[in-house]
Amino acid sequence: MSDERGLRLRIVQASRRLSGLGLNSGRSGNLSVRVDGGFIVTPSGAAYETLHPDDLVYLTSSGDYGGGQARPSSEWRIHRDVYAHRPDAHAVVHTHSPFATTLACVGRKIPPFHYEVAFAGGPDIRCAPYATFGTQELSDHAMAALDGRKACLLANHGVLALGDSLEGALGLAEKVENLARVYWQALQVGEPVLLDEVEMARVVEKFLTYGK
Ligand SMILES: [Zn+2]
Repeated sequence: MSDERGLRLRIVQASRRLSGLGLNSGRSGNLSVRVDGGFIVTPSGAAYETLHPDDLVYLTSSGDYGGGQARPSSEWRIHRDVYAHRPDAHAVVHTHSPFATTLACVGRKIPPFHYEVAFAGGPDIRCAPYATFGTQELSDHAMAALDGRKACLLANHGVLALGDSLEGALGLAEKVENLARVYWQALQVGEPVLLDEVEMARVVEKFLTYGK
């Protein structure tokens, strides 16, 4: 099996995993992996259950895609811009996962209420301002919210997670959803206690060497 064939199969499996975990239902969300000269992304309006490796779309790093392919995800600009601006990113996962999207719908970021927020690279997980789906404006907002971070929320929309691999991006998308759920739960009980900047900087530093 060629490398690209194997990669396409992994993207399809990852899509089904997101769906199976309840992070993306129906046709929402999309994911991509960086390849030589561009990236491979899920197609527009794809039903995950019936997604086939051949349905995935190859785009060049400038966002061009050849005929004979399905249309790429409507959020292809975000994927293109991440690969252009973030050499550390080799995969992008976008979800509408319920708890993180709940926070995004009230325009709330995830503050340092738990040390694992630092998994996203900093003391908080920002919420990018709202813009219409599929627009350059949304991608621009997302790039700003991702500055120094590997994940962000998108107001009234969902979540973005970057990774140095498909598995890394998938794991971070799951982590963000779990943090959003625990934060939401904590808000039901009282005012969450926030960790300070010094402690979060220490944890960010520890995570840089964690598991290596
Ligand atoms: Zn979306």
